[in-house]
Amino acid sequence: MLVPIHAISTVLGDSKHVTRSYPDGSVDCPYCSNAIHYPAFQCRNPYCDANPQWKPDALREHREKRDADKAQRDYDNESRRQGAEFARACIAEHVAWESAQIDEANRRGACVLCLFQPGWERVRFVVHRAGCPKRRRA
Ligand SMILES: [Zn+2]
Ligand SMILES: [Zn+2]
Repeated sequence: MLVPIHAISTVLGDSKHVTRSYPDGSVDCPYCSNAIHYPAFQCRNPYCDANPQWKPDALREHREKRDADKAQRDYDNESRRQGAEFARACIAEHVAWESAQIDEANRRGACVLCLFQPGWERVRFVVHRAGCPKRRRA
């Protein structure tokens, strides 16, 4: 008689409900989605948590390591994402700063060619009496 499998459990005692089963009694392992062919009722995927070959300690260790790896990966992704966001914010801020300086130079009648100075975000508002030397040289 065909006894459908409702759940697959691991050697540690936790189990998951089978979410996909087939008319012949086979199911997909809820842990790794490998097919478990009737009349087998245990997952034979050597990498699957539900493989009955696991020794409980080994499985526990395997899970801890996997969780730690995932936490590390999540952390790395998050820091990369924040780094990129920060860089974007910096660029946007700098562009806004530059256009504010140009507005200010125009307001003061200062030279835009002489406005930006070497170094980070340094400006000089120079009002030439007789034309800009930079413009003359160009
Ligand atoms: Zn499995
Ligand atoms: Zn100038």
